[in-house]
Amino acid sequence: MATYEYRCPRDGDFEVRLPLGEAGAAVDCPGCHARATRVWSAPRLARTPRALGAALDGAARSAETPEVVSRIPARRPAAAMPAHPAHARLPRL
Ligand SMILES: [Zn+2]
Repeated sequence: MATYEYRCPRDGDFEVRLPLGEAGAAVDCPGCHARATRVWSAPRLARTPRALGAALDGAARSAETPEVVSRIPARRPAAAMPAHPAHARLPRL
């Protein structure tokens, strides 16, 4: 099964699950029964979570125009590790 996207002129976009290769150029809209034409879109892009989309966009942007630095970036302070009481019982070298 695959998900195909159609656009009704009155109700907008909707999806139909059909076996692969059996999607027609138009189907009846489930809301108003008007003819809805198929919409071609890249697979899975419409349902990509926002954070993943932003990460993919950032990766593509970085590949196209990488950020150039002219000096070594300043060292960030190391994150403080919370001490756990059990660490005191570990063997010391
Ligand atoms: Zn409709």
